[in-house]
Amino acid sequence: MDRTILHCDCNAFYASVECMLRPELKDVPMAVAGDITKRHGIILAKNELAKAYGVKTAETIGATRRKCPDIVLVLPHHELYAEYSKKVNDIYKRYTDLVEPFGIDESWLDVTASKNLFGDGVHIANEIRRTVREEIGITVSVGVSFNKVFAKLGSDYKKPDATTVISRDNYKDIVYPLPVGDLLFAGRRTTEMLGKIGIKTIGELANSNKELIGGMLGKMGYILHDYANGIDNDPVKSVEDVREIKSVGNGMTFKTDIVTEDELRCGITALSDSICSRMRRACVKCRGVQVYIKYADFKSVSKQKQLSLPTNVSKEIAKEAFDLANAVRDKRKAIRMLRITGINIEHQDNCGVQLSLFEDVNTEKHEKLERLETNIDKIRKKFGKGAITFGSALGNEIGIDEE
Ligand SMILES: [Mg+2]
Repeated sequence: MDRTILHCDCNAFYASVECMLRPELKDVPMAVAGDITKRHGIILAKNELAKAYGVKTAETIGATRRKCPDIVLVLPHHELYAEYSKKVNDIYKRYTDLVEPFGIDESWLDVTASKNLFGDGVHIANEIRRTVREEIGITVSVGVSFNKVFAKLGSDYKKPDATTVISRDNYKDIVYPLPVGDLLFAGRRTTEMLGKIGIKTIGELANSNKELIGGMLGKMGYILHDYANGIDNDPVKSVEDVREIKSVGNGMTFKTDIVTEDELRCGITALSDSICSRMRRACVKCRGVQVYIKYADFKSVSKQKQLSLPTNVSKEIAKEAFDLANAVRDKRKAIRMLRITGINIEHQDNCGVQLSLFEDVNTEKHEKLERLETNIDKIRKKFGKGAITFGSALGNEIGIDEE
């Protein structure tokens, strides 16, 4: 039997929370932006009125002001967004215990077993929209489908405050004409590569030769081809499943062995970035970090340490991992493979309280980095993984093959 999966997406989340708390903002074009005093500050979210002026998420304040000189800009209040995110997810949990958050403003719900109690997927979706609107005062768009990938396409299809059903009967009509970049995990680079062989829509990808796509894009190519055809068996993970994640790691074998400290730093930055964005997506932090090094002669070393502060900030993980790697490695030997793992994982809700206990660490700087990287996640989610890269991973010539 098919599953019934909902993907619930809070519309313009940051802007909606600001407008709900300060109703005077509802009647003017407004946007939430970092660094509002600087022209190169970035738009993080905008309300519907600003959208009508063509204001776009992730563009600079300078560009926004040219389109809409009267726009009201508001600084982000991240603690508030976290608080309201939890409230919204608590509403979802009234309908199923299988609620998997994907970032701060989106969640998947598996309501297959809830239908006898609450009615079919559409009924639950509409009820959730009404409840969130009435109890919290913001709107949610919901996609209802038989897998996670199509449910997510559904929540994006009609906004704000709408329900879209993507079923086995209608998915070709709805999903096939959409650009391939709308598929989960199809980043800008993947989209460009597919475009070069004439694949622009999800339908074109669905009807393409799977082996060809796999040959071109590797493992991800096969997965995306399946996604386009409605094949996605990934379960919705409950909060308990997320708690069971013990570690989040990523390794890579370098096309050319690592010799210099700069190359090492570059590799560590890229790996830290990838594991931290996975941790943030799963709403977890790690309390320790582990580095594993395999030399060109295939001998290996590894070392781990506990952190003074649980984190999912890649700058912090990268620094710890770099110090650890330098402490353990034999500097005369070239490195062939590197793995970084965040260990002793905990749900981020259990990590916050102790911040003030650590007087030796700069908590203000930590929180600032945490906000910066959360915003980077939002922009990447919208524009693909390649949209923002940290300085030291830019223009690397090592040739990184993620495992
Ligand atoms: Mg959203």
